[in-house]
Amino acid sequence: METLLDKHWHQIESDEVCKLLSVQPDKGLDDFEIDRRQKNFGANVITGKKGKTDLERFLLQFHQPLVYILIVAGIVTGFLGEWVDSGVIMAVVLVNAVVGYIQESKAVKALDSLSASMGTEAMVLRSGQKIRIPAAEIVPGDIVLLRSGDKVPADLRIVSGKELRIDESTLTGESLPVAKNEQAVNRETVLAERKGMAFAGTLVSYGQGKGVVVSIGNKTEIGRISGMIDSADELDTPLTKKITRFSHMLLIAIMVLAGASFVLGLMRSEPISEIFMAAVALAVGAIPEGLPAAVTIILALGVSRMAERKAIIRKLPAVETLGGTTVICSDKTGTLTENQMTVQEIRSGGHSYIVSGTGYSSEGSVTPADGSQGDNKALDECLRAGLLCNDAKIYMKDGRPMVEGDPTEGALIVSAEKYGFKHQQEHEAFKRVDELPFESEWQYMSTLHELEEGRIAYVKGAVEKVLGCCKEMMLPSGEVVELDRDTIIAAQHEMASKGLRVLAFARKKVRANEQLIRADACMGMEFVGLQGMIDPPREEAKAAIAACQNAGVRVKMITGDHALTAEAIGLRLGLRAPGCDIGKDCPVMTGREIAELSDKELTEKVSDIPVFARVSPEQKLRLVMAMQKNGDVCAMTGDGVNDAPALKQADIGVAMGITGTEVAKEAADMVLTDDNFATIQAAVEEGRGVFANLVKFIAWTLPTNAGEGLVILTAILFGATLPILPVQILWINMTTAACLGMMLAFEPKEPGIMDRDPRDPDRPILDKTILRRIGIVSLLLLVCAFGLFKWELINGATVEKARTMAVNVFVVLEAFYLFNSRSFKRSPFELGFTTNKWILGGFTTMMVLQLIFTYAPFMNTLFSSAPINLLDWIKILACGLAVYFIVEFDKKRTSSDI
Ligand code: ATP
Repeated sequence: METLLDKHWHQIESDEVCKLLSVQPDKGLDDFEIDRRQKNFGANVITGKKGKTDLERFLLQFHQPLVYILIVAGIVTGFLGEWVDSGVIMAVVLVNAVVGYIQESKAVKALDSLSASMGTEAMVLRSGQKIRIPAAEIVPGDIVLLRSGDKVPADLRIVSGKELRIDESTLTGESLPVAKNEQAVNRETVLAERKGMAFAGTLVSYGQGKGVVVSIGNKTEIGRISGMIDSADELDTPLTKKITRFSHMLLIAIMVLAGASFVLGLMRSEPISEIFMAAVALAVGAIPEGLPAAVTIILALGVSRMAERKAIIRKLPAVETLGGTTVICSDKTGTLTENQMTVQEIRSGGHSYIVSGTGYSSEGSVTPADGSQGDNKALDECLRAGLLCNDAKIYMKDGRPMVEGDPTEGALIVSAEKYGFKHQQEHEAFKRVDELPFESEWQYMSTLHELEEGRIAYVKGAVEKVLGCCKEMMLPSGEVVELDRDTIIAAQHEMASKGLRVLAFARKKVRANEQLIRADACMGMEFVGLQGMIDPPREEAKAAIAACQNAGVRVKMITGDHALTAEAIGLRLGLRAPGCDIGKDCPVMTGREIAELSDKELTEKVSDIPVFARVSPEQKLRLVMAMQKNGDVCAMTGDGVNDAPALKQADIGVAMGITGTEVAKEAADMVLTDDNFATIQAAVEEGRGVFANLVKFIAWTLPTNAGEGLVILTAILFGATLPILPVQILWINMTTAACLGMMLAFEPKEPGIMDRDPRDPDRPILDKTILRRIGIVSLLLLVCAFGLFKWELINGATVEKARTMAVNVFVVLEAFYLFNSRSFKRSPFELGFTTNKWILGGFTTMMVLQLIFTYAPFMNTLFSSAPINLLDWIKILACGLAVYFIVEFDKKRTSSDI
């Protein structure tokens, strides 16, 4: 078998391939054979994806301007004979790399495990049964069933295909989908033209097909070219890029300043070693090098938090963008509604019927609502069409009936059973010989059945579509007369206004041997009836919509359903546009109207419309672009293949985890594991929280750098002794960022975070208030550290002790300022001191470290520190308290609404 797997499958006829792989294409493998092959060939997974290796990741930690400066500083101090300093600097470089590596690995792992948890599934035929299994369990010889939206799980030789088209851009770069069929091609045919093959990782964009697995895992074409698969560990986001650019600009400015101070020192004929140390201290202190990494970690923590709330982030920048979302466009069915369909009304043969019972239980009945008596052949055909033109199944789980497949179709099985039809019997009597599956684009499904007297085709779908296929309609007697379109449309409107989802049914007799082809499947049919089903709005969606609207985020429903159904559901959900309510002065816009508008007109109108109905997936793309032209940050949901372009275009593409196709999930930035609208609102809330914490972290960390830079610059300008040495600056920066700053990542969301308007994407990250605060704290750090340092020297303290005072001033002030930084508006008392226990833990750890720094003899040797007394601590704490109160006072004067 092993050698078999290296064949040129594309040149072998498909039945021969099946023979070679010992499988029957209409049955699949049996359990014994699957077990054996799984042991033989292993799992269908690609190992060794592209992405950085652990070693590369570790080495890249040294690839930062600050680290270069430090390494040079370490070497030069070594040459100058300052062995201890040189050793400490090198040790810091190493510790920094290890810490950076561990943190980054954690972030990558968080993202990796999320993408793994979304592993793809595939539909296979095994022992004659269609079953859905994880793609990893597929073995060579398995028969895989493909339909539009699927990701091909392994390399397949196509056995049969119906209008099958596959997007192979991941593999061949060809952007247009390629038509596939079962035909063999020449051995020399290039990959992109092997029409009889479907390759792992490519996406089915249309039609359906069946294929036999010929290669799995690393043996597949995509597995061989490892490196072509995107790894999910991209950690750059617009914000981190902005910050990196800012650090680099600052780096240049600081290097110029450091160079100038070096020249100044030389002109003053100061000792070279001292001038050099001052220049290094300036560079090390003033550059916020750790910032991009810290931001990445805060974002990654946000990813985990969102996952807990059932929103899986596929692309890290989404965490950032979510907080600034201004419009959420959501599908209706399943996202805003329960997707628990129950047929309640039927109109057929000129009569109306009520269907009793709830859920998917077949208990209930179909009774005339208008007192009509006797047989109704049209009703028979209407319910039979619903039952046969159907791919769903009802099964029992824990004593409760559940639906497998499309709930709309589940509801039609149930209504037919309530009428007295038996699912299995009907399917046996009307053997299905062909089908055209439902595609949103076409809005109908059709099946063809073999009977003794000939073939019969059934169609079910959107009312306008099905009526478009019919010229005639059936009466209760079975007689066929001319179609009375107006009466049917009036009946549809009556049902839709109650919020019912209405489907129409039709049939036609066709010649033996005739097949279904899209072009003429929907022609010359006889209309047999309408079925209207209820799909209750989700309670939690109603609350979530209200929360979004309160937060200045507009919610729009974009549905494939009828305008009246959409309007009724929209009303129940409380959807509205600013200044108008649906049903009153705010009309529902339909796909047809969208088609008539130019892009410019659509851009003008789009903001005021809360509900869009009968929208085709292609129109979703136009809607997203129109909203973006208005400056909106747009989240858009989708589940089908054709939704992918809109999902990619949207600022946040949201795919459904349960009902979504693989194509939609691949295109999305975020996947909802519960398909629920409320989860989007939760993610927006989390996004706002993460962004707020990011800004708090930046506002907390920048004064350290600015303060250190100012202290050193002042010392250089006045030709004074350096109040803090480069190694001491390294100590401050590393310990405070890890023990204090990072704790802001765990800051809970402030109350009222969903009561403000979304952040304007053009607004700078740091507004005037925050910049002023950063300035105030930086100056306070300068005054306190420089002042106390000088004071100690004047009063006869050793320079080591005076520097220890300065270092402690920095750390203690940062620690107090950390409590201020928990909110730009509220005091820690308002927030509650224990609401972020991480901060208390970090504060305590930091203080213990400072005691070690000050009193442990080995630290005194390494960092040139010296013990200080109680009075000194009191002076330092007094400075800390002063900063705390000044910032709190500043908060009361101004308010920033981050
Ligand atoms: P949303 O886009 O909000 O999820 P939707 O599910 O109604 O709404 P589509 O799935 O595109 O959107 O369905 C559009 C229309 O096609 C429906 O209103 C219905 O009339 C018809 N339809 C839906 N499902 C089927 C099906 N399985 N078979 C035949 N017709 C269907």
